[in-house]
Amino acid sequence: ASGYTLLRDPHHHKGLAFTEKERDAHYLRGLLPPAVLTQELQEKKMMQNLRQYDVPLHKYMAMMDLQERNERLFYKLLIDNVEELLPVVYTPTVGEACQKYGSIFRRPQGLYISLKEKGKILEVLKNWPQRSIQVIVVTDGERILGLGDLGCQGMGIPVGKLSLYTALGGLRPSACLPVTIDVGTNNEKLLNDEFYIGIKHKRATGQEYAELLDEFMTAVKQNYGEKVLIQFEDFVNHNAFELLSRYSSSHLVFNDDIQGTASVVLAGLIASLKLVSGRLADHTFLFLGAGEAGTGIAELIALEMSKQTKAPLEETRKKIWLVDSKGLIVKSRLGSLQHFKKPWAHEHEPVKELLDAVKAIKPTVLIGSSGVGKTFTKEVVEAMASLNEKPLILALSNPTSQSECTAEEAYTWSKGRAIFASGSPFEPVNYEGKVFVPGQANNAYIFPGFGLGLIISGAIRVHDNMLLAASEALAAQVTQENFDKGMIYPPFTNIRKISAHIAANVAAKVYELGLASHLPRPKDLVKYAESCMYSPVYRSYR
Ligand code: NAP
Ligand code: MN
Repeated sequence: ASGYTLLRDPHHHKGLAFTEKERDAHYLRGLLPPAVLTQELQEKKMMQNLRQYDVPLHKYMAMMDLQERNERLFYKLLIDNVEELLPVVYTPTVGEACQKYGSIFRRPQGLYISLKEKGKILEVLKNWPQRSIQVIVVTDGERILGLGDLGCQGMGIPVGKLSLYTALGGLRPSACLPVTIDVGTNNEKLLNDEFYIGIKHKRATGQEYAELLDEFMTAVKQNYGEKVLIQFEDFVNHNAFELLSRYSSSHLVFNDDIQGTASVVLAGLIASLKLVSGRLADHTFLFLGAGEAGTGIAELIALEMSKQTKAPLEETRKKIWLVDSKGLIVKSRLGSLQHFKKPWAHEHEPVKELLDAVKAIKPTVLIGSSGVGKTFTKEVVEAMASLNEKPLILALSNPTSQSECTAEEAYTWSKGRAIFASGSPFEPVNYEGKVFVPGQANNAYIFPGFGLGLIISGAIRVHDNMLLAASEALAAQVTQENFDKGMIYPPFTNIRKISAHIAANVAAKVYELGLASHLPRPKDLVKYAESCMYSPVYRSYR
């Protein structure tokens, strides 16, 4: 290829890092200024540039530009500066990017499959330049983060999630495929926007929707085989549960909003048992919010308790109570409950308010997954603190403004006794001279390592026990030093090492369950996982 083409290929471009020899061998003389820089120096310069932007969206755009221009440098930045750049390429900034996707849109990323492609999805897949795909993240844009229906502009989500698969989990960028399915949007603002990039009509539902999704799922399996991981992302809850149950026995599918959340929260709970006494089964759980996150977490906790105590799932579920927008989920509501809430309808008189539910159920663990901020009031936290020596309080709703309470509120109202973690990050809190570091139950701890574990073992199905394996591996990464600060999650700085341990534990479970197709099983799975990870260091061209 000509030097000019080489400079425009993001997979090969390395800017001023081309050596003198490479410049001679690849017709690059004169096409670059004379200086030769190392990748480290380029990284330093790019970080300096990024830090000059005050507006997060500008940082996001600079990162997307870099990804389009020089892929390896993009990943090197992301890997080496993960704590700083995670909020730029993913939440919260990616949310704003999706909202403004139309106007910041440059070169299209990912694959768009709309109702116009009905009947031709297999051909569309063949238009994608890469053939060997290992992970697909797909959204239909209907419930983007906490922002609602963003239609076709939801593409920022699969693109962002997959860049984390590579940076944090080490999957090759060329093996990742972001997909947005466009069946229309119910967002009036987008429908009336002359620049909207998607299909301009109301969302298709029912059979029309199901048929398009089914054609997609069939085409994916036909084109990439049985071992491609399909991650569903940001679907509204009835579709999310429906798709997961419909395809989990025929495809390798995973829903991060349900299963990834469940696994990361369970990891935090397992870790916190080092700070509070007892086994998981000695605890009583109360949730505010019974949707994708809440019921997903509840089910995984019940499974883990059942695994530990050998008690049947029907029994362990009774330790878990959920409150939705209509109050405590109880037997008398069974008739009108959505299907995914039914397992949680226990015998109890109706209770309307959270505070009353806390007093009635006497939970040791309180989990917020309602999407509604300020719902863990002073009274609620005080009630938890009066019931428990060390109340466990998880305020998972995002973004920060929707958090059920802040870290400061949890520590202050419980007089420094709460063990607290949240969905959105909070700064450390100084309460009466002691510094508490709140944990962040970020899904990015789990899904990259989980996916890597499935890929390296050649898994053909996801099983709940693999999620438990991921949780246990993450919990085991929390050190005494972390616990001493009140943390129930490890810091993100070592995330690739954490991902390797998660991947190894997940893969071990895949082999144990006989669902692995990559044989024979590597002996040291942690080492093997690490050896499979993509490195962003420049290659040399001879
Ligand atoms: P979802 O499926 O829409 O579920 C929301 C649930 O909250 C529903 O059960 C709803 O009740 C209930 N609810 C809404 N308003 C309420 C109120 N005022 N009082 C009591 N319950 C109320 O949403 P989701 O996907 O589960 O997400 C929920 C929240 O969790 C979001 O804020 C999201 O950001 C957060 N989340 C955090 C993480 C994390 O920390 N890693 C991961 C995933 C999600 P009805 O069923 O009666 O409508
Ligand atoms: Mn999501």
